[in-house]
Formats: sequence, C-alpha cells, structure tokens
Amino acid sequence: MPELPEVETVKRTLNTLVQGKKIHKVTVRLPRIIRRPDDIRIFETLLEGHTIERVERRGKFLRFLLDGLVLVSHLRMEGRYGLFAAGEPLDKHTHVIFYFDDGTELRYTDVRQFGTMDLFLPGEDLELPPLNKLGLEPLSPEFTIEAFKDLAAGKNTKIKPLLLNQAYVVGIGNIYVDESLHLAGIHPKRSAKSLSAEELSRLHQAIVSTLSEAVNAGGSSVKSYVNGQGESGSYQHQLRIYGRKDAICYTCGSKVEKSVVGGRGTHFCPSCQPPLLT
Ligand SMILES: [Zn+2]
Repeated sequence: MPELPEVETVKRTLNTLVQGKKIHKVTVRLPRIIRRPDDIRIFETLLEGHTIERVERRGKFLRFLLDGLVLVSHLRMEGRYGLFAAGEPLDKHTHVIFYFDDGTELRYTDVRQFGTMDLFLPGEDLELPPLNKLGLEPLSPEFTIEAFKDLAAGKNTKIKPLLLNQAYVVGIGNIYVDESLHLAGIHPKRSAKSLSAEELSRLHQAIVSTLSEAVNAGGSSVKSYVNGQGESGSYQHQLRIYGRKDAICYTCGSKVEKSVVGGRGTHFCPSCQPPLLT
C-alpha cells in the first residue's frame, strides 16, 4: 500500500499533469469505487464543468480541489492515476475516467479494486469521514516533539501499532514504521509509555528524516506501485531494514529478524533495537 512518500509523489505528479484542466465528462465503470454520493450518476454529473485547481494530500488520501467541489481519493493497495490522450486503448482495470475539454483523460486504474473516491463540497471533506478523524501530519509544523510526546504519553499500546494508527499520526505504513524504529534504535514491541523522553525525541526525528528522504526519492516501489506518471520511486534501494530478513544490518552487522507485531510482518535488528529489559 502506498504510504505518505508515495502518495505525496503521486500528488506532485498529478499537479504537473492535471492542474487547471476542466472536466467535461466523467465515466464510472466500477460503481463500488465511488462511496459518496451513493448514486454514481450524480457523481458523474456533479463533476461536469468543474476545473481541477490543485491536488493536495491528507495522510494517505489525495484531495482534488476543484472550483466548488473536493474529490477525496484513496489508492489503497494498487490504485493509480495516469493521463492519456483520447482514444488510447483502455486497460480492463480502468474504473473511472475523467475526460477533459482539451482532449486528454485522467484514468483511475485499480487491479485490486480496493480504492475509494468520495465527493464533497469545499470544507465539508475535512469535517466528515474519512478525513475528519485523522491525526498529525508528520511533515508539517504541527508535528512537534512535544505533540509527539503527548500522543505517546501513558499509552500501553506497542509503539509500532501506535505509529500505524492514522488517528494519531497519518501517512506511516508498514515500510516506514519499520525504517523509523530501526533508525531510532527502538524495538517495535516496546510499549509507548516505556519510551524515555530521549527515545521519543530520537523516534520523532527518525520519522521526519525517513519520510523526508523517501519523499525526495519519489517514494518506494516495493511491489507494483508507480507514481501518477507511471514512474517508479527509488527509495526501495535505500531501505535499511524493511524486506531484509536474514540480511546483515548495515549499522551493526547483526542478522535482521522478522516477526509479527500487531498482526503485521515486522523487520528489526535485535542488536540495534533491543527489547526493554525489565
Ligand atoms: Zn543492527
């Protein structure tokens, strides 16, 4: 599933591709992608005649800001966008097509069909599900060390599932949580409340630097993810721990281990990330 760096890359690419384009028609080929409004004919009709002013990101969601509407899109496992010229052959997994008045088309393709789209009036989208319960943006000024410490304070939850909970911090998924915890030298099964102030500062810094580096690299292409222009990110070559079971830890030379934490496959270094001894 694309995480913050991948969605940020898609957002940036989409802004270069569709900013200022006016929609003259929309076709939904797989109704279940559209969650709001209930009636896909209304979804199609409402978007006609509107111009995409820019694309923003909130957590792992894309927000298409149009003149008078906001389209919220989640790519889930394998959703992707591509800009095509009219008449180019349609992929059988293309489920939504936005036809622009300049003859180009933005096509949403999703092999797994788990992606979603919700249409709102401006301002409404941030007040209603799925965006209204989201936590702090880790690459924004609101993500201070103090805010992070407040969030972790007193919680019995293991630190890995806490970081994956989008109600606390958004955009972090299984890849970047393992990377951040390794960089900070913190075992993924430690409880949030067991972390010292110094460890929380280190983890805060690790989250910010890991996500920033990944954004700069255009995200990771661990499976089939590509950005909005069909290009792969390159951060998978910089991963320090994720996907490296039994390989040698770059930091200390120990063997990378994999276990299950909070139901998720988890990579960690037993030397760099010791469990809390009690
Ligand atoms: Zn190590």
